[in-house]
Amino acid sequence: SSSLRFEVVGEAFKKKAVEVPAPAERPSEFFGKYVFTRQKMFKYLPADVYKKMCDVIDNGASLDLQTADVVAAGMKKWAMELGVTHCTHWFQPLTEGTAEKHDAFVEHDGKGGMVEEFSGKQLIQQETDASSFPNGGIRSTFEARGYSAWDTASPVFVLGDTLMIPTIFISYTGEALDYKAPLKKAIHAVDKAATDVCRYFYPDVKKVISNLGWEQEYFLVDEGLYATRPDLLMTGRTLMGHESAKNQQMDDHYFGSIPERVAEFMKDLEIQALELGIPCKTRHNEVAPNQFELAPIYEETNLAVDHNMLLMSLMKKIARKHGFRCLLHEKPFAGINGSGKHNNWSLATDTGILLHGPGKTPTDNLRFVTFIVETLMAVYRHNGLLKASIMSATNAHRLGGHEAPPTIISSFLGQQLSDILEHLEHSTDDELIDVASKHGMKLDIPQIPELLFDNTDRNRTSPFAFTGNRFEFRAIGSQANCAAAMIALNAAMAEALIDFKTRVDALIANGVDKTKAILQVVREDIKTCKPIHFDGNGYSEEWQEEARRRGLDTERSCPLIFDRYLDESSVKMFETTHVFTRNEIEARNEIKWETYTKKVQVEARIFGDMCMNHIIPVATRYQSALIDNVHKVQEVFPAETAARLNAKNLELIEKISEHTSFIAENADRLVENRKVANRIENVREKAIAYHDTVAPMLESIRYHVDKLELIVDDEMWPLPKYRELLFIR
Ligand code: ADP
Ligand code: MG
Repeated sequence: SSSLRFEVVGEAFKKKAVEVPAPAERPSEFFGKYVFTRQKMFKYLPADVYKKMCDVIDNGASLDLQTADVVAAGMKKWAMELGVTHCTHWFQPLTEGTAEKHDAFVEHDGKGGMVEEFSGKQLIQQETDASSFPNGGIRSTFEARGYSAWDTASPVFVLGDTLMIPTIFISYTGEALDYKAPLKKAIHAVDKAATDVCRYFYPDVKKVISNLGWEQEYFLVDEGLYATRPDLLMTGRTLMGHESAKNQQMDDHYFGSIPERVAEFMKDLEIQALELGIPCKTRHNEVAPNQFELAPIYEETNLAVDHNMLLMSLMKKIARKHGFRCLLHEKPFAGINGSGKHNNWSLATDTGILLHGPGKTPTDNLRFVTFIVETLMAVYRHNGLLKASIMSATNAHRLGGHEAPPTIISSFLGQQLSDILEHLEHSTDDELIDVASKHGMKLDIPQIPELLFDNTDRNRTSPFAFTGNRFEFRAIGSQANCAAAMIALNAAMAEALIDFKTRVDALIANGVDKTKAILQVVREDIKTCKPIHFDGNGYSEEWQEEARRRGLDTERSCPLIFDRYLDESSVKMFETTHVFTRNEIEARNEIKWETYTKKVQVEARIFGDMCMNHIIPVATRYQSALIDNVHKVQEVFPAETAARLNAKNLELIEKISEHTSFIAENADRLVENRKVANRIENVREKAIAYHDTVAPMLESIRYHVDKLELIVDDEMWPLPKYRELLFIR
């Protein structure tokens, strides 16, 4: 009831910041405190085993059980010094977030007691019942058993009393049931392909690393207010609620207590993240009210993904300690900025060269344009797939909105890079190469190093923007696992580089000089991938039309966008890079459609319930009060005066009737449409039905609920309003 609303609002105002004591040590000293880093490996493992582990981590050497036993013993010693009693394999199933399978460190000692045990076998592999996780039908065709296996590239860490072991999660028959296994394959594929291309320029390169620097946006909402909104509680977003007035003048006390509660939360989060080895940069700029952002320094992609997953769960946990709920939903509030994740991505060599960054020598310049153009080729060829990789029921609410990237993937390059590509396209080899020069070549590409300052994020509308020495993929959903996008992007890049090298090698085999061969293929690709390059306003109507003319994917329906995974070009790309088999792609798409349906289904249920049990009764009660008042006015005043005085109320009474009857009738239709959709067997068709016939009704009914919110007496309204959710902190 509304009294609950006022109670929680009152309590929220009174909440005091939970003070977080400043750590005694400096950040550089407590950074990685709970991580089994190389330093700790060196300290807790015998020298030969330490060396072996380095070989495993750096070069993918295999790990035998004896070595694993020794490693486990060292880990156990370190962990027990931190008070750890349990261990768990930590993995990333195809639902949201992460999953864990806890085991105690104890075993029977055979004498009626227990001993602390942690074997190499427990460390490297565990059996898990895969049937309790989504597997897209792999379960029905194969055995239900699944395995989690240690990912040695991501260090184990301690969370509370538990030793956390990052693992991949695969079925008994080897199909990936998680994000990490295919991500590692995609990273491997791009490493191999990029290393091969790098050798044209730098023969000493042995390895190419995929970098990821994510920026994570989120909202904080007072926990008490959150708890009184069934929609927030059950779906992570508000399914109804009128926008609070723009540029609302806030009372001083709105802001008085704010920074403190939030600041303490941020301090807490940052300390704990640093202790877990997440290299946070202190940068929490706020966009919408109660919206914040956190970005660490970029890391190797596999590790960066683990750190993002870990950070999201830390955020949720720490928020509760401070009396908040952390909303990671992409669009918790209509009409207000949504939350996304920017994935800053680049490739770098083991010799320290940033492949997407310009350099100083002609060789660097040619390498730079090669990697930029092949990235554009990857994004061009697979623009529909890349969109599918970031699409979800929740992110669909944000994309195409007026603060988020549009539902068309294109790439912003900026003036200078655009000029360079144009110049390359229109110059002859001889114009570009001065054979007489000292280096044997002199790439006439003017001023590349100065690119750096042109490309900050001037164009916020671009989903895939070049930002000086990296690309920034901005369409990722705030609650998504970054891996989905990174799998598609790195695999597509691997394919582009393999294709590039095949064509260059063919020219070289025909006697063309290496530099000329590279230039020719680059020039050909500049022409081919032109449609993906767009520096204009991605929000404009014209862009929709223009993109369609260019042949870019402009589909907006989430279930249909998932089809792009099954395009022949996608399957071929994933199979040739050994990232996914067709079977795996099909299984994963089943899960995507199922998840989509479930999300909309839950929203529709909660929404219908809120309409019938919260909104209509309150609106009707207020309407009765107005009717009573009309009667009383008629009793007290002469007919003519009464008619004049009652005019406004009569108008409201009528409006309330119109809104409530629309809501009631359509809530019934919503149930009907769900029933029809539920009878559809095919998961894809079912998701399409939910998209086409259920989801739009939530919007059309909501309009009337939000209108009622403006009419009904504030004292009676049962749900915390936007201004309360967004400005109390
Ligand atoms: P913004 O201009 O978007 O605010 P920042 O400079 O704060 O960007 O960086 C955002 C993220 O990009 C950080 O995680 C940062 O470490 C990362 N980043 C910077 N350079 C690179 C790069 N070459 N490759 C990948 N990530 C990078
Ligand atoms: Mg950014």
